[in-house]
Amino acid sequence: MASDVTVAIGLTGGIGSGKSTVADLLAERGAHLVDADEIAREVVVPGAPAYAPLVERFGPGVLASDGTVDRQRLAALVFGDATALADLNALTHPLIGAAMAQRLAALRGTGTPIVVVVIPLLRPEHVHALGLRAVAVVDCPEELAVARLVTLRGMDEGDARARVAAQPTRAERLALADYVVDNSSGLDELATETGALWTWAMSLCDAG
Ligand code: ATP
Repeated sequence: MASDVTVAIGLTGGIGSGKSTVADLLAERGAHLVDADEIAREVVVPGAPAYAPLVERFGPGVLASDGTVDRQRLAALVFGDATALADLNALTHPLIGAAMAQRLAALRGTGTPIVVVVIPLLRPEHVHALGLRAVAVVDCPEELAVARLVTLRGMDEGDARARVAAQPTRAERLALADYVVDNSSGLDELATETGALWTWAMSLCDAG
């Protein structure tokens, strides 16, 4: 029987590894999700705190015709440009971090046993800053991630490879893992793997 202690688990994985799929499966079991990507989108909507500084730094070329930030255009602009990427991160990361911490704080003590915090580029400092009890890494061979991005997302193969290569390596990610979810097979196997992750996470709740 789980207690009502809120345990926050960090969930990460490379692009195309399957972390959104795992997060959705965990949500079906009762986890509450806090998604860094979703919050990253929220902080740049018109009127949100990162919007004006971002337009000032990158120019109106990053805006769609309706005045919203065109995230694909922005991503293309900073990809391969270390200075632009550092500027974007400096503008947005503190705001994203603060919003995530706020959301987590609001959930603690509400009876939600498990909060899953999805952070694509999770770094060790996030563990402390967000009070994560543990980190789960969704892992698959890079070739498989590329194949999924190409066949299921319609991404150009060269683009998919470049994005995978620009991320931390598989070994670097696995070094952060308290728990590894193997996603090198099909969706049925992933559901089974996620069930095992859920059982493990619930055991952390029971441990208090
Ligand atoms: P991103 O970082 O780009 O958001 P992600 O790690 O969240 O990617 P998903 O969106 O969960 O990855 O998965 C990428 C694609 O691969 C999706 O279309 C998903 O349905 C599919 N997929 C994930 N795992 C499997 C699997 N084991 N078998 C078949 N398809 C899968």
